[in-house]
Amino acid sequence: MPAVTEVEGQVRNEELDAEREARRQLALAQIRQYPDPVLRMQAPPVEEFDDDLRRLVARMGELMKDANGVGLAATQVGVLRRVFVFAPEEDQVAALVNPEIVRRSDEAETDDEGCLSIQGVTMPVERSMTVRIEGRDENGDEVGYDLEGTPARIVQHELDHLDGTLILNRTTPEARREALAALRPRLVIR
Ligand code: ZN
Repeated sequence: MPAVTEVEGQVRNEELDAEREARRQLALAQIRQYPDPVLRMQAPPVEEFDDDLRRLVARMGELMKDANGVGLAATQVGVLRRVFVFAPEEDQVAALVNPEIVRRSDEAETDDEGCLSIQGVTMPVERSMTVRIEGRDENGDEVGYDLEGTPARIVQHELDHLDGTLILNRTTPEARREALAALRPRLVIR
């Protein structure tokens, strides 16, 4: 029976079997969680395209897949470098280093987004419908993507992470209050 998949921002919602769920929990344990201060920090550009960077990208790709995510930024694993991985299409992983949105549509759309660093809550966020994003891959080669809809939303979310901006800063004041109220009891338990 095919699983019904619903993508909400950074998080893919679907039923997982026990083994997949265990792997997901292990991956999530390695992803920094709100209110970790590193999530608020600005990441400086990558200057060297070396094995260290390629190892980081490979690790982030694995974590993203295991966590059942569709995007993951370096700041979310505590690394302050401008790099993120994302799924341009289902089951694909691409890395963008020093990414910049060079074009975006005037048309915007509001939809619910989740975040691997703010688990268990989603909130409405307005994003440009289409974007062109350019940067380099992990080998230093120039890459560019023209994206629409969900993938466009994902890269806007990831780029925000590299500037220390979270969906909590992008949503409405009411949704932010609700999300913080839902998060608070858990923060106390931890
Ligand atoms: Zn996120």
